Amino acid sequence: MSKLKQFLAAVGRAILNFLKYKKHLYFPPLFFLVLAGVIIGAAVLIYSKFIEEPAEEVKMAFEAKNYDFTGQTIVLDPGHGGKDPGATSASDITESKIVFNIADKLKDRLEASGAEVILTREEGEFASLDDRKKEGDLFISLHSDAMDDPSITGFTTFYTYPNQKEFAETMNAALDEHSFFHNRGNRKLNYQVTWQLDYPAVLIELGYLSNRFDDHTITEEPYQDRMTEAILEGIDNYLN
Ligand SMILES: [Zn+2]
Repeated sequence: MSKLKQFLAAVGRAILNFLKYKKHLYFPPLFFLVLAGVIIGAAVLIYSKFIEEPAEEVKMAFEAKNYDFTGQTIVLDPGHGGKDPGATSASDITESKIVFNIADKLKDRLEASGAEVILTREEGEFASLDDRKKEGDLFISLHSDAMDDPSITGFTTFYTYPNQKEFAETMNAALDEHSFFHNRGNRKLNYQVTWQLDYPAVLIELGYLSNRFDDHTITEEPYQDRMTEAILEGIDNYLN
């Protein structure tokens, strides 16, 4: 037997003896190594399954469509304004500012679609309810109110006369499709802005700033874009 073979045989015996008689030396670290492996493996599995997978992004805005509203005069009535801020949001954005923002976006889109647009007030300006009586083909009043009860959430559409009902209903359906909030329905009510008009008119309560979810959502610009597109779709559905 060569010296090398003798040496290898000796090493082999030493290893076997170590494994056989010195279990107390290598078992504890081995146990913890295996345990660590299992924990890391499980963590990687959980991470790849639940965290790494991109959470489905909530799409706030949706694709802007092209419309043709040539020949239509549309009156946009952003609620409140000036000395009357309307409801206030936890993020300090007032109802008057939110609804003016949406009215402004609507104005741009409507004019680009060939419509004539009348705003019942300018930015930061106050207008009385009497002053909001303007002649047109369609009238849309925008609000986002607040209630004492913070659990109250959702959007509502209001009209006064039978000849306003279908327009309000169509607007309600478009909002129902695109709003993130609960539909509180299409209701008949004598709000002055719809009551003082004899043509199709709707008052939209887009949501409640007193509700945390509504407030958080409605103060986001992409959601305001979304509501703008929903209202345009409602106008188009009503006219065509
Ligand atoms: Zn209001």
